[in-house]
Amino acid sequence: MATAEKKKVRKVSYCQAPLSPKVKKGGATVVSQALIKKGATNLVASVHVRRGDMVKLMTGSETQGKGKTGKVLTVFASKGKIVVEGFNVITRASKAKTAMGKGGLIKKEAPIFASRVMLFCTSCKNTTRISHKVQDSGKKTRVCKKCGESLDT
Ligand SMILES: [Zn+2]
Repeated sequence: MATAEKKKVRKVSYCQAPLSPKVKKGGATVVSQALIKKGATNLVASVHVRRGDMVKLMTGSETQGKGKTGKVLTVFASKGKIVVEGFNVITRASKAKTAMGKGGLIKKEAPIFASRVMLFCTSCKNTTRISHKVQDSGKKTRVCKKCGESLDT
């Protein structure tokens, strides 16, 4: 068939990046083309939070947990994604793998893009950004930009 040879091409308005996942040197794959700026050399979106941080979901639906705060459980730095407690909870059907294990519907958090969350400061109870401060001992710490409270505990 001649029509089958025609490749379906979707238009990208935000950048000229190809839609197929790009593999960088070192094996890191880029998943969201939307996060790549035109002419960017670093093709992976950086994650601004760390495991254990409290974050607030800024975008998405109510069911995904928009407006709620949660703790970062896992960071996938190469994908630019994070898993947050209580955010984007999906229900998966699973079969019992062992004789002892139970199958059925399992609720678990699915990864979300880190750009969808903002850091939440527990001392000033507000969303904030990270500022860096060099302590007297020479150690660099992350502090809340609004109240100056240390985020590394
Ligand atoms: Zn603060």
